[in-house]
Amino acid sequence: MALAPRGGMTGGNRGIGLEVCKQLASNGITVVLTARDQKRGAEAVSILGELGLSNIVFHQLDVSDPSSAVGLADFIKEKFGKLDILVNNAAISGTISDIGNPETFRQEVGGLDLTEKVDRIRKHSTEPYKQAEECLRTNYHGTKAVTKALLSLLQSSSHGRIVNISSRYGLLRFFSGDELKKELNNIDNLSEHRLDELSELFLKDFKDGQLEGHGWPTEGGFIAYNVSKAIMNAYSRILAKEYPSLCINCVHPGFVQTDMSFQVGDLSVKEGARGALMMALAPKGGMTGGFLNRTEPAPFV
Ligand code: NDP
Repeated sequence: MALAPRGGMTGGNRGIGLEVCKQLASNGITVVLTARDQKRGAEAVSILGELGLSNIVFHQLDVSDPSSAVGLADFIKEKFGKLDILVNNAAISGTISDIGNPETFRQEVGGLDLTEKVDRIRKHSTEPYKQAEECLRTNYHGTKAVTKALLSLLQSSSHGRIVNISSRYGLLRFFSGDELKKELNNIDNLSEHRLDELSELFLKDFKDGQLEGHGWPTEGGFIAYNVSKAIMNAYSRILAKEYPSLCINCVHPGFVQTDMSFQVGDLSVKEGARGALMMALAPKGGMTGGFLNRTEPAPFV
């Protein structure tokens, strides 16, 4: 009898992460739903349990705490001995918002088009250094720490897959300098060490007000978010080269109705989860080192 595949999900307690857990479990996959908060995670498992999905187990994971990732790896190793699918979904926007009551905001922007909605969110957002730092720590370093902790378990699978939930804001077109754009796109010459360095350089430039001079994104008000996703994309591509037996891809889910978008996205979580599920459930020998814009392969630039 073939054993059902096992999938692990970061930030599985709400939004796109919760939906991906639901869909993976509905496809017969045993899901390790993780959340940084024990109570919120347990509630999510219970909600999915009420839908008849009993093949979901919970484990606490704060992606910004490397020891937490090691604890998760120990748990999966002991319980399952391997991992078939890892979905790195947990992320933060790195901003502080003064939107206030989300319901009032939803009504306010209801008739606007997508670009105008994003502009309104931007107008209500500020990006202090502390949040920018936390954004890099969560979205890039956190994703990397979880991936590293689970890599050997993914290699024990006959078809290991990593799906990194990214964003179109991580595309290199948002960078203001060609040299930096080129460097981040030249995967053959990039190393994880250099990505760590770039992460530090960005934070220094952010603090010193030197973003434009050094080629970082300068517009949009979600600058640390853009950089965190761009560096995560580059890490994903390096890893795909280094581990050809695994399928490792990035996915932009679209503008989705979740807390991160103040529920004003144009896609439901079900629609937003589609690309991630496509990659998580893709048969062996499929795309690796790639980027999906929703469900379509697209360049990283
Ligand atoms: P939400 O804000 O709804 O959910 C984010 C999830 O990440 C929550 O479960 C949150 O947990 C978790 N999380 C945040 N920080 C940590 C941490 N340190 N450790 C563990 N979990 C953490 O966001 P979405 O569902 O919208 O976003 C999911 C992914 O999709 C993200 O990677 C995001 O960048 C990406 N994305 C979303 C878009 C959208 O329109 N919604 C557009 C493009 C990309 P908690 O509940 O504890 O805060």
